[in-house]
Amino acid sequence: MKTIIIGAGAMGSLFGGLLAHSGEEVWLVDIWKEHIDAIRSKGLTIEEKGKTQNISVNATTDVRSLGKADLVLYFVKTYHTEKAVSDSLALEKDDTLFLTLQNGLGNEETICQQINRKKVILGVTGQGATLLGPGSIRHAGWGKTYVGELGRKITDRIDRVAQMFRKAGIETEVSTRIHDLVWEKLFVNAGLNALAAITGLKNGQILDYQETLRLMESLVSETTEVAKRKGIRIQGNPLDRVKAVIEATRENRCSMGQDLDRKRGTEIDAINGAIVREAKQLGIPVPYNQMITDLIKVIEKAF
Ligand code: NAD
Repeated sequence: MKTIIIGAGAMGSLFGGLLAHSGEEVWLVDIWKEHIDAIRSKGLTIEEKGKTQNISVNATTDVRSLGKADLVLYFVKTYHTEKAVSDSLALEKDDTLFLTLQNGLGNEETICQQINRKKVILGVTGQGATLLGPGSIRHAGWGKTYVGELGRKITDRIDRVAQMFRKAGIETEVSTRIHDLVWEKLFVNAGLNALAAITGLKNGQILDYQETLRLMESLVSETTEVAKRKGIRIQGNPLDRVKAVIEATRENRCSMGQDLDRKRGTEIDAINGAIVREAKQLGIPVPYNQMITDLIKVIEKAF
């Protein structure tokens, strides 16, 4: 499969690096020239558990130079998805697949505004990565990746994508309930990210103070209510799962926290902001999600 990754930041570089290392034909595309120049001249450096490896990966800033793709994988931040999709239209042929593994809600809809939904597949990933500088990332999380068809079927093409990821060492399963899994990941992001970002806390500290614990529980409880009303089939207790993820990543500063620390925009519109939008349509009050969205938005205005 000729795979073209749009957005070669932390996660795009991780997936691209692992796929290239396993022998796949893969291209990284990014608008950040310094990063692409570094990958082209010195290779991509991946730091993992104290060790570093250098991988040779094709990389470009010019998506139009690449011809057609079998698989397009979006790894831009959610607020750049619309532009990334329009840039990637040049890669489309009859059987091109378009996959997003981004966080939050709304990516599927944004992609389907420009791409026929028959060609779109969805996923979530528990892999984690951090950008260290041009041409250099840290592999920081090893959770499972799930991919699935929008129509919930198991098809040859989705199997092929999962197999390719597995061959690259990315533990992957095909799911027939991929929308439910997108929401399950959203429970964690909605309960943790904005709260940790605003308070300046590391993930685990959210559980250590009764005030942040209470706020986190309220954010997750509102999100669960919206998910249930939307017909999302929730397995197990979302709050227990959120707490387990927070505990497992205790020492991390979440990505939204890192965004605020660096005075950069956040993915709030795709996380708590998306819950507010969904809740409005359903006529459900979500005051905690509304407040945390408003607070992040005001902080962003100062950047
Ligand atoms: P990042 O900021 O490190 O990388 C995004 C990259 O996209 C940047 O290098 C940027 O220059 C590039 N970009 C923006 N517009 C572009 C365009 N039109 N064409 C090509 N490139 C463009 O972000 P990230 O941390 O890799 O996150 C990407 C997505 O994955 C987000 O939705 C995030 O929530 C999700 N995610 C991140 C992690 C993680 O551990 N970092 C884990 C799971 C999911």
